[in-house]
Amino acid sequence: MERLSGYTAPGAKAYAAMAADASAGQWPVTLFYRCRNVPGGSAIHAPMPQPIEVFDGVYSIGDDANNVWAIDTAEGIILIDALSNEEDAKRVIVENMRKLKLDPARIRYILITHNHGDHYGGAAYLKSLSGAHLAMSREDWEGKALGAPMPVKAADDFYLTDGQKITLGGRTISVVLTPGHTPGTVSLVFPVTDKGQPHVASLFGGQGSPKNLAALQQFRKSLDHFADVTDAMQADVVLSNHTVGDDGLTKVALLAKRKPGQPNPYVAGREGVIRYSALWQACLSADIDQIAWNAAARPDAVK
Ligand SMILES: [Zn+2]
Repeated sequence: MERLSGYTAPGAKAYAAMAADASAGQWPVTLFYRCRNVPGGSAIHAPMPQPIEVFDGVYSIGDDANNVWAIDTAEGIILIDALSNEEDAKRVIVENMRKLKLDPARIRYILITHNHGDHYGGAAYLKSLSGAHLAMSREDWEGKALGAPMPVKAADDFYLTDGQKITLGGRTISVVLTPGHTPGTVSLVFPVTDKGQPHVASLFGGQGSPKNLAALQQFRKSLDHFADVTDAMQADVVLSNHTVGDDGLTKVALLAKRKPGQPNPYVAGREGVIRYSALWQACLSADIDQIAWNAAARPDAVK
């Protein structure tokens, strides 16, 4: 039985097939969402995730749609994203931190990947609890936000820029500007350890494909830029700020059952990170091809 994907253009279908090959069954949820319900993918069927330590001092503390990452250091906590509003920040982030014995008052930095409300809505409240510095790209902080009111940039907040390094308590996070999902989406790369074994985590900051061709092409270029950085830093771990971005609900459930000596499900290996990157690149190329094909069929519909 053939399952339908959202692509009708022959070229887009070919790209989608490449994406499915690249996934090799490793990220079925990501493939499904990233690549317009491509065959071989699947939707999410999982309960609300439990908060959990994924790498040494690196915690998954989000909900079933948006993940939030807490990175604990001797000098405080770095948070990646902040959910939709104060209520979600209290109910999910603060509650999960308490379950993990992480003190929300110790948050020092809140890095916001982009200006969609499900990523920054709880940031102002979390800053009020902790005095943390908020950080987002200038493009997105000054741009048109989608969702809750954007937190006002205080004197101790700052912009995230391409190539920037943020260091706290011996941990360093590299910032990569990857516009496309929004004009100032940022992605992050940082070393982690798994029971002492060193790895390098990559987290791409934007998810859904934009609707217009220029933004899709920018997104596609950003994937190349991000791949260059993850190659240079030898990233071997895929994390995401959305559970659909890294098959996070499956991985958290696997991790909860992990026995000593078993592999960490988030470690993809270098080869896995390269395939993950190829999956995204192929899906973006499919989106672009589909738009071009639609436009050729209906020249007045070109955007
Ligand atoms: Zn978004």
